[in-house]
Amino acid sequence: MTLVAGVDLGSTTAKCVLLEDGKLIGKSLSPVGVELVKDADRALERALVEAGRERSEVSVVTGTGYGRFKVTFGQLTVTEIGCHAKGAHFLFPGTRVVLDIGGQDTKAIKINEKGEVIDFAMNDKCAAGTGRFLDVCAGALGYDVNEIGTLSLGARHPVKVTNTCTVFAESEVTSYVSRGKDPKDILAGLHISIVNRSLSLLQRVGIEPEVTFTGGVSRNEGMVRTLDRRLGLRVNVNPLSQYVGAIGAALFGHERLGGSAA
Ligand code: ADP
Repeated sequence: MTLVAGVDLGSTTAKCVLLEDGKLIGKSLSPVGVELVKDADRALERALVEAGRERSEVSVVTGTGYGRFKVTFGQLTVTEIGCHAKGAHFLFPGTRVVLDIGGQDTKAIKINEKGEVIDFAMNDKCAAGTGRFLDVCAGALGYDVNEIGTLSLGARHPVKVTNTCTVFAESEVTSYVSRGKDPKDILAGLHISIVNRSLSLLQRVGIEPEVTFTGGVSRNEGMVRTLDRRLGLRVNVNPLSQYVGAIGAALFGHERLGGSAA
């Protein structure tokens, strides 16, 4: 029996998964604050509690994500791109393209049949087209980010959001509200705007028939449906989509111990 952990310390959330002989036995999701080492530690502790395991039983901890170098108790660090590629391939072995939209960046990743990275394109220069953009605009409308995807599905006449900059988009949202636009139409317009930005990243790596959507924003059903429509296919999403980076990280640890990836 080998027990490994993957800790994905992102810009907004810490995710941890525990894999025993390649099977997921525990996970945790918690917010990230300013004490990143403690946040990473808490993520592991919570996953261990869920699995009913002790820290001493874990053979390898792999850190990934924006804060991976703060997973100081780990033995390995791997980039988010490598981990999303491996994690997506684990959940959907046929996938060749991964779109990861997290709290502060968006990545399109082309992978091979082994889940290895062939190419990638990313936006990490500003919050435009990321979860942060949706968080801010949801707040401007008085909603929680968890509810905006479902609400946007009821739109009848989506507005055109012309500003990609988060700050300007927030003012644009406020201006639509003052003009009496239906919040559902505003939300749908925001989703279309993010999907359009993601499409240009996907086109840079090349779109393939099986696309997997990962990261926290893949939990937003409005984003999933808008992406489906624009791509003309059904993207892969999984209830564990926000954990894909952590799953990939744990798999790197599993392989380090001589296990196969899937
Ligand atoms: P990071 O790894 O950068 O911390 P995540 O991949 O965890 O980012 O994604 C965080 C983003 O996911 C948030 O900014 C938010 O927009 C979105 N998100 C998280 N949970 C949900 C949810 N339940 N429904 C819709 N969006 C969500």
